[in-house]
Amino acid sequence: MHLEFTAEENAFRATAREWLVANVPRDKRPDDGPGTREFDLAWQRRQYEAGWAGINWPKAHGGVGLPSVHHMIWLEEAGRAGAPPMGTLSVALSHAGPTLMAFGTDAQKAFHLPRILQGASVWCQGFSEPGAGSDLAGLKTRGVVEDNCIVVTGQKVWTSHAHVADYQELLVRTDSSAGRHAGITWIICDMKAPGITVRPIRTIAGNHHYCEVFYDEVRIPIENVVGAINDGWRVAMSTLSIERAGGVAGHMALEKELNRLIRFADDNIDDATGEPLLRDSRIMSELAELKAKFAGLRALAYTVVSREESGVPGPESSLLALYYAELLQRTQRLSMQLLSSDCLGGGSAQDAIDRYLQSFSNTIMGGTSEIRRNIVAQRVLGLPR
Ligand SMILES: Cc1cc2nc3c(=O)[nH]c(=O)nc-3n(C[C@H](O)[C@H](O)[C@H](O)COP(=O)(O)OP(=O)(O)OC[C@H]3O[C@@H](n4cnc5c(N)ncnc54)[C@H](O)[C@@H]3O)c2cc1C
Repeated sequence: MHLEFTAEENAFRATAREWLVANVPRDKRPDDGPGTREFDLAWQRRQYEAGWAGINWPKAHGGVGLPSVHHMIWLEEAGRAGAPPMGTLSVALSHAGPTLMAFGTDAQKAFHLPRILQGASVWCQGFSEPGAGSDLAGLKTRGVVEDNCIVVTGQKVWTSHAHVADYQELLVRTDSSAGRHAGITWIICDMKAPGITVRPIRTIAGNHHYCEVFYDEVRIPIENVVGAINDGWRVAMSTLSIERAGGVAGHMALEKELNRLIRFADDNIDDATGEPLLRDSRIMSELAELKAKFAGLRALAYTVVSREESGVPGPESSLLALYYAELLQRTQRLSMQLLSSDCLGGGSAQDAIDRYLQSFSNTIMGGTSEIRRNIVAQRVLGLPR
C-alpha cells in the first residue's frame, strides 16, 4: 500500500498544473445547445494538441499510456484549475472509448478512437427506455437482423446530449425469445441515420441536456455491432462498470466549492445576529461535517484508483459514485441555504440555484442511489439479495 504519491507522480502533477493554469478556457461554457458541443470539442482539441488527451488510454490507441493514478491527478488538477467539465464528451471519453478498446473490432477502433481523443466526435448513451431504467434488461427497442443491417424500432429516454451527438452506444433486443439478459446487442448508432427523431426534455434546472430518442426502422450496418449479436449484455455491463468508476476525481472541484462556501460564510454577515454566517452553529457544523466527509471522499477515490492499478475490478466504484453524488447534493443544498441575492464566489446566485436543481439528477443517472446501495450491499459487503 502506498500512502504517498511518488516523486514522479508529484512531478507529473506540477507539469499538469502549470499547463492547466495557462490553458484552461476562461470564457464561460455555454449552458445549453450546440454551443456546448463546440466549446467542449475545442477544449478537448486543445488538450489533444498539447499531448494531454487520453492520459490513461494505451499508446496503441493514441493515448498517453500512463497509469490511472496519473489520470486521477490530471482530473484533480483540472478541478483545481477550474477546467470545464467533460460535458458533452463524457460518454465518449469515459466509457464509449474504453468499451471499444475492450470489445471493438480493429476497424471500429481505428475509426472512432482517434476522433474521440482529437475532439472530433460527440457520443451519447442509448440504454434507458421508458420501462427500462434500473431494470435495464427489460429493454424493448427492437433490432431485426436483415441482410447486412440491424433495423431498429423503438424508443430511448433521458439520453444525455443526444441532440448534439454524432454517435450513440445503443442497446437493442435482437432476440425476444431468449432470456431477458440474452438477446441484447450493443451497436454503434450514427445519430444522423434516417429514421431517428430526437426530442429534448426540459428539466427543472431549465436546460435541455437530456432527450427522448425515437427510432423508426433505422438501418444500422452490421459491422457496427460491438461484441457479438445477442452478446450485448456482457458488453453493456462492462460499459456500466467503466461508467460507474468514472468521475473518480470530482472531489477536487467539489472541495473547491466547499472552500468557497466557507469563505462566503466567513465574509458575509447574518442580518439577524450581526455576526458572520459562519458563527451560526448549524452552518458551522454542516460545513465542518462536509469538510470531514470530503476527506473521506478523497481517501475513497484514492482507494478505488489504487485497486484499479493492481488490476482488481472494484464494485467499490459504486460506493464512490454514491458517496460523491449524495455529498454533491448536500453541498449544493447548503449553497442554496447560504445564498443571498449577491454573487456567490465565482458565479451568480442563479448559477447556484441551477447547480442545486441539477444536482438532483446525480442520484439518478448512471444508476440510482438505491441501485448503487444494492451493488455495495451485495458485491462489496457480500450481503444476500
Ligand atoms: C439527468 C439524467 C440523465 C440521464 N442520462 C442517461 C443517458 O445518457 N443514457 C441512458 O441510457 N440513461 C440515462 N439516464 C437514465 C438513468 O440511467 C435512469 O433514469 C436510471 O437508471 C433510473 O431508471 P428509471 O428512471 O427508469 O427509474 P426506475 O428504474 O423506474 O426507478 C424508480 C425508483 O425505484 C427505485 N428502484 C428501482 N429498482 C430498484 C431496486 N431493485 N431496488 C431498490 N430500488 C429500486 C429507483 O432507485 C428509483 O428510486 C439519465 C437519467 C437522468 C435523470
